[in-house]
Order: sequence, then C-alpha cells, then structure tokens
Amino acid sequence: MATAVVRYTAAAITDRGRKRASNEDAFGYSVEHGIYVVCDGMGGAAAGEIASSLAVDEVLRLVTERRAAESGILPHIATEAVDAANEAIHSRAQRNLRLSGMGTTLVGFLAEERQAWILNIGDSRCYRLRGQRIQQCTQDHSLVEEQIRLGRMTRAEAARSPLRNVITRALGTQGSVTPDVIEIETDPGDIFLLCSDGLTRELSDEKIEALLNTPATLDEICTQLVQAANKAGGHDNITCLIIRVD
Ligand code: CA
Repeated sequence: MATAVVRYTAAAITDRGRKRASNEDAFGYSVEHGIYVVCDGMGGAAAGEIASSLAVDEVLRLVTERRAAESGILPHIATEAVDAANEAIHSRAQRNLRLSGMGTTLVGFLAEERQAWILNIGDSRCYRLRGQRIQQCTQDHSLVEEQIRLGRMTRAEAARSPLRNVITRALGTQGSVTPDVIEIETDPGDIFLLCSDGLTRELSDEKIEALLNTPATLDEICTQLVQAANKAGGHDNITCLIIRVD
C-alpha cells in the first residue's frame, strides 16, 4: 500500500460556559510537532486553572523539545511528557497548601505521518469521525463509567448519579500516574475531536456527529459546538480541539 503523506490542520476553542465563574479548562497544540492536548483542571478555581495550564505547558514543552532534537521515540516521549506534567503539578501542590489536591484530566493526540497515539487520563474524551460516523476512542476514568462496564449501572442511571463527577484517574494528584495510550493509524479525511466533559455532558454523540459533519471551517465547527453546549445549559467549562487529516 502506498504511504501517502498526510497533513494535519487544527483549531480549538475554550469557553467558560454559562454557570461557572472561571474557566479551569486549558488546551494547547503545535501542528509542526504533532502534539495536541486538552486538560480539565480540578481542585478549586485557582488550583484547577493552574493544574490544567501546567499540564498543557509541560506536555507541549517536552514534546516540542524532544521532537526538535529528534531524540527518543514517540510513544515514549508522550509518556515521558505525562510524567513530567504529573511531577510539575504534584510538587507545586505539595509546596503550596492552597493548591493541595489539585489535578487535571488530560486527553492528548500525538501524530507522526499516519501513526498517531491518543493519551488519556480522566474523563475528557477523544472522538474520531470517519465516514461521517463518530466513534469514541477513549474510555472515561470515572466511577460511573466503571460501574457501567461492570454492568452495575445503566447509562441513564449514570447521567443522574450524584457521583458522576468522580474521576478515578487524574494527573498531578498522586506521585505517579499511568495514561491509557492507544495507537492508531490515521486516514485522510479523518477528523479527531478532543474535548472536556463540559461538551459531552451537554451534547449527545449524535449531536456532536452532526456538527462535525457540517461543511464549515474547523474554527466555525468549534464555535458551533460551544454554542450548542451553551444552548443546552453550559453548566461547565467547554473546550473543543479539532484535528483534521488531509
Ligand atoms: Ca469539566
């Protein structure tokens, strides 16, 4: 099979939503170095903002440095970057009592040619649109998702559960953390969406799929996703990062 060279294009947006006083989500990417990250911080307003932006900055810094120096192989660079981000957040929280317990989710996408790796910690998500259909690539590390997987709870019960915000894995809250790493091959035409739960709590997969299929620029689609989530209530911060493979 011919290995056609693919090109990646991206756009992203973050929005406070309609109910929260601050925005604890953060995103960052470098198309040149093939790294894209969305984080959703927790631990109280200031702490959550610090945790998510520290995570984005550390992962981008380490990946761009290593890739510019052409040292290391990609999936290892990615896990090394996650370790560095975990350490940065954890040690900062230990030095400052007000930041104690802060942490963040992380969903990341790292690409080289047609090989890509999706990294996940927590309940932010990665979806892939291929052939006009979306598929969730990541599994939430949340209490309710684990109960669903064990057959102890239905999706409808999970959506109403008072425990639906409890995540079972986070970056920065412990001395170490292991991300899920999913290796995939990308096809021209694929669209990947990285997003925080402020989007997925408000919009069904069908709605997200319909919006990703609209003939518009990536920036316009990001804006439409945020508008739809706000229209549905905007209870939480909303972040979308879209990557298109051409
Ligand atoms: Ca959130």
